[in-house]
Amino acid sequence: MSEKKYWDEKLETLPRAELDALQLESLKDIVRFSYEHSVYYKRAFDEAGVKPESIKTLADLAKFPFVDKKTERDTQGVGTFLGEMCAVPETDVVFVSASSGSTGVPTLSPFTKTDFDEWQDVESRLFYMAGMRNTDRYVHALNFTLFVGGPDVIGAQNLGALCIWSGTVPSERLLFILKEFKPTIIWTTPSYAWYLGETAKKSGIDPAKDLAINKIIVAGEAGGSIAATRQAIEELWDADLFDFFGISDIFGACAGMCEAKDGLHLAEDHILVETVDIHTDGILPDGEQGELVLTTLRKRARPMIRFRTGDIGYVKRDTCSCGRTHARIYITGRKDDMFIVSGVNIFPSDVEFVIRGLEGITGEYLIRVSEKNYTAQYTVEVEKITGSSETDEQLASRVSSALKARIGVKPAQITVLKDGDLPRATHKAKRLIDERKLNYTI
Ligand SMILES: [Zn+2]
Repeated sequence: MSEKKYWDEKLETLPRAELDALQLESLKDIVRFSYEHSVYYKRAFDEAGVKPESIKTLADLAKFPFVDKKTERDTQGVGTFLGEMCAVPETDVVFVSASSGSTGVPTLSPFTKTDFDEWQDVESRLFYMAGMRNTDRYVHALNFTLFVGGPDVIGAQNLGALCIWSGTVPSERLLFILKEFKPTIIWTTPSYAWYLGETAKKSGIDPAKDLAINKIIVAGEAGGSIAATRQAIEELWDADLFDFFGISDIFGACAGMCEAKDGLHLAEDHILVETVDIHTDGILPDGEQGELVLTTLRKRARPMIRFRTGDIGYVKRDTCSCGRTHARIYITGRKDDMFIVSGVNIFPSDVEFVIRGLEGITGEYLIRVSEKNYTAQYTVEVEKITGSSETDEQLASRVSSALKARIGVKPAQITVLKDGDLPRATHKAKRLIDERKLNYTI
């Protein structure tokens, strides 16, 4: 029997018009459900003068108010333990994850049993799309402590892969697992995939030859979608890299790369995406860059109607070369990380694209944004590879020109460091320091 190409062929290749019709039907349903069962949505819709009947087309969603992280924090614990956004009694909730809490109070994300099972079916679909089969051995190297990415391993198990729940163990232990159990697929962050490969080499293991990993799934940072970063990791491991996108306020991964590696297919039967202008809040057409706003179409425990993700990117809805019709999203940065120099919006991912494409440096970098004479400027620290014959001045000038060419704004300074001077990330890399904010903090 020949192997099936899709996890769910009918759903994944549904013609656009039918997919739109499916989304509209689910949208009407979830908006009504939220209005009738969530204290928060009833109040917010009434205040905005909209009713469930206001949804006649998908575009009508734009009449509804946004929610964001602050809405979650403000309503959490109000009235009931799970708070005003929750739309089911706590007895129907079987699982909660908590956001990483890197800024402010951690927020809880509740799931009913059906929410949880449907989420894992999406994970199976994304894993299958990335090429996972029941012949694979899979290492889930994500954090299991409260983090929403932890349970995603169940999607791989439901697919039939042999799963190893490693979690975020120290790198020596993870390398031991990779050497002894010879898994074929691993999921981690791009920074860690790079760090782990380099660490393996230092201990005499060539990840490209001595290990069996042939696919790396990454999420949590922009790197997986930056071609230069992706190729550098692929080369280091002699493996294919697939970027996934997830959001703790919704569920684990909700979009992933197919073999075309051109954007990430969003599970559109579960999530509706809009692109919003960050200055005017107006809806942008497909292909234009703005903040991605997501609406969950099926989750009952805590529906998310027009959730502002803070992720900047754009959307394409044409059929992909893989045959899938579900929209592809392209994440280009975080709104929080964007800085403006000489009127140009700059994302750390733009800088990374340049740094990872240049010879003679390690690929590690640190960006500092500061203010001089009331004008923002940025500087970049890079590491020269050991044994390079180039002078620091020559290298700095080469990096500076490459940044100017790509971004349009020259950095105020390039600092050349030695290999190993910058801290190596073991989970999410902190590669941007905004010194202006530090100055303003009392
Ligand atoms: Zn595709």
